[in-house]
Amino acid sequence: MPDPGGQMLWPTPGHSQVSSVFADWPPWRKEMGLSPHSGIDIRAPQGAPIRAPISGLLTFSETDWGGLTLSIYGEKKWDTENPALAAIGQTFYFIQLLHLSLLLGVERDVRIGEAIGAVGSTGTASTGPHLHLTLQTFHRGGWIFTDPALFWDTVPLGRHAFLDLDRQPLYA
Ligand SMILES: [Zn+2]
Repeated sequence: MPDPGGQMLWPTPGHSQVSSVFADWPPWRKEMGLSPHSGIDIRAPQGAPIRAPISGLLTFSETDWGGLTLSIYGEKKWDTENPALAAIGQTFYFIQLLHLSLLLGVERDVRIGEAIGAVGSTGTASTGPHLHLTLQTFHRGGWIFTDPALFWDTVPLGRHAFLDLDRQPLYA
């Protein structure tokens, strides 16, 4: 079980296996013109509870590829000793959780650790039920995708720490 790191809490208690790391880009996705993996995939059974990894404003959206999606807009800064994250410094950031089967309330303020939904396979979750976690940070005037694994010592790091993705659909 990963320990909470920095100001981010592991979202799926009891389920810690990462099935796809950040910036993963297998040949078949590349050939389809899809971008590198925009977050990490956490393997968990259908209906497994999800808790808020950060505090902030919770909103809801739905896309063909992401399925039922929750976004949380975080507070203005974090405290972390991770060098890559510390280099960004104080920043705006938000996380997104994709492929959910259940949403517990939308358009509300949540506190870290609060129950917010359940794992599912909505959207293009072709590998079965899992939770896709995306982190975006505001850096040098634009939003960039950031490896959430930087918050936990026990989570495998991706091929890059940051990605600037503007292609759609994203690889979720
Ligand atoms: Zn994913």
